[in-house]
Amino acid sequence: MNTQYKRVYLSSPHMSGHEQKYIQQAFEQNWIAPLGPNVNAFEDTLAAYCGVKHAAALSSGTAALHLALIMLGLEADDEVLVSTFTFSATVNPIVYQGAKPVFIDSETDTWNMDPVLLEQALEERKASHVLHKVKAIIVVHLYGMPAKMDQIMELANRYGVPVIEDAAEALGSKYKGKPLGSFGKMSILSFNGNKIITTSGGGALLCNEEAYAIKARFLATQARDQAPHYQHSQIGYNYRMSNVLAGIGRGQMEVIDERVEKRIENFNFYKSGLAHIKALSFPELPNEQFFSNRWLSTSVIDSEQTGITYLQVQEALEQHNIETRPLWKPMHLQPIFKKYKAYLNNTSETLFATGICLPSGSNLSNDDRNRVLELIAQCFLK
Ligand SMILES: *Cc1c(COP(=O)(O)O)cnc(C)c1O
Repeated sequence: MNTQYKRVYLSSPHMSGHEQKYIQQAFEQNWIAPLGPNVNAFEDTLAAYCGVKHAAALSSGTAALHLALIMLGLEADDEVLVSTFTFSATVNPIVYQGAKPVFIDSETDTWNMDPVLLEQALEERKASHVLHKVKAIIVVHLYGMPAKMDQIMELANRYGVPVIEDAAEALGSKYKGKPLGSFGKMSILSFNGNKIITTSGGGALLCNEEAYAIKARFLATQARDQAPHYQHSQIGYNYRMSNVLAGIGRGQMEVIDERVEKRIENFNFYKSGLAHIKALSFPELPNEQFFSNRWLSTSVIDSEQTGITYLQVQEALEQHNIETRPLWKPMHLQPIFKKYKAYLNNTSETLFATGICLPSGSNLSNDDRNRVLELIAQCFLK
């Protein structure tokens, strides 16, 4: 490996410089706890930015999904219709509840849940009188690209199944001018270290109905009943966000628009700089109703044209200490999830076999970005 250069990461934390001020306040006020002024302020900022009435700050995006599913009444043997083309964190909380994921493949333009397959899954369940077992649809906005929310919400409403948006990768993205995270009955965000903003680890649940926000905070703090002693009539969780970490989140939210802008600029840089390589394609926005934060810049390689695969590109960049990653491996191909039902059209499998994620951090230097571009171009000009 060429260690002349320091490692270029796929997506690394990018502090604004304002985070420590809020952390300092937490120390001065001794709010070193999973509640406090930073948590409240971070929640208010998130709700306003995402165009919803309420946000509950939690320990992770996974925790937020788990609570959303519990609040929708998901129990053993129920089903959740969920995008197969995603990260495992979308699916794990379904299984925590003893329920069954039903995987829905992607459409070719957005790479997100295919409304045609979703309708098929809903219709089959209605016809066999088991639609009541379907407690939720989890739609993922992968790599920041909005799913076709008009079609998905129409189906969800027609069949009476609530939607949870997994907007973990999509903070700052919009569909028809409305922020993602504002369409579903509930939505989730993630502030893991590699996301567009980070609190080192953390997440949030978004909703318009106050009852869900109150219940989420209650469940996230061990479901303690109102009583002078410690009393519990439900199973609780320890899922609340620390007031120290929420301070990082406040500092990050001050620069969210700049972060989105820079990610989009990275994507456009790769797309225009590699336009002459016909074997590479970059996912387009289907039309002007779609606005993607371009969390990760992705590209699909036509190997039949060139004989070059994503693994070769990955290897070439790795030799220069540059991190890349294949696209997500679909959930229906994962050993742990293989046994569940899936509605497939081959789209996610093809994407997984041909796509790559490029260094996309908002702190990526121009020199590093140019180097990535040149190395990729070299792979194809040999
Ligand atoms: C990161 C991510 C999550 C999980 O978030 P955590 O905060 O890491 O638990 C869920 N879904 C998707 C699509 C993600 O990328």
